Amino acid sequence: MFTLIDLPYAPDALEPVISARTLEFHYGKHLQAYVNNLNAALPGSPYDGLPLEEIVRQSDGPVFNNAGQILNHNMYFTQFRAPVEGNAPAGALAEQIDKQWGSLEAFQAEFVAKGAGLFGSGWVWLSARPDGTLVISQEPGAHNPVEKGLRPLLTFDVWEHAYYLDYQNRRPDHLKALWSIVNWDVVEQRL
Ligand code: MN
Repeated sequence: MFTLIDLPYAPDALEPVISARTLEFHYGKHLQAYVNNLNAALPGSPYDGLPLEEIVRQSDGPVFNNAGQILNHNMYFTQFRAPVEGNAPAGALAEQIDKQWGSLEAFQAEFVAKGAGLFGSGWVWLSARPDGTLVISQEPGAHNPVEKGLRPLLTFDVWEHAYYLDYQNRRPDHLKALWSIVNWDVVEQRL
């Protein structure tokens, strides 16, 4: 049985970037539904009892869709904190971003462009390759970079349910605003 993760902040802590109302639906309804659906689909399937990442790597169909969305949202919701002005990574992660993109701003611009440019529903990810270099990828639907042998570090959800109540059709504005609530300590711990 999988359970709904706890949020590491109060429901209104991410405002005005992500409203308590959006969290009420995105976390309380959408993520809860993925958890309920996976728990209903697993008994009697070959994936029952496997860790979530293994289910995502091995399954397809409804089991994959719900498991992928749980893994993606668990990483998404635990990577935020209350808004910080001038929010930026530190340490090894910051050094690697500078090395590959030249600046945090250049990295963020590519990340937002890839999120804004993903057609339909999906996720934009920053991941580490086995050699330690970083890569930004677009993953449609419920997909996760673990399927490609990558280590996922940071993700922005570009499904409309992630931003429509607060930003309506303005996906790029939503993605740009998310930088102020990224908890870079959590992201670096995933490295
Ligand atoms: Mn979502």
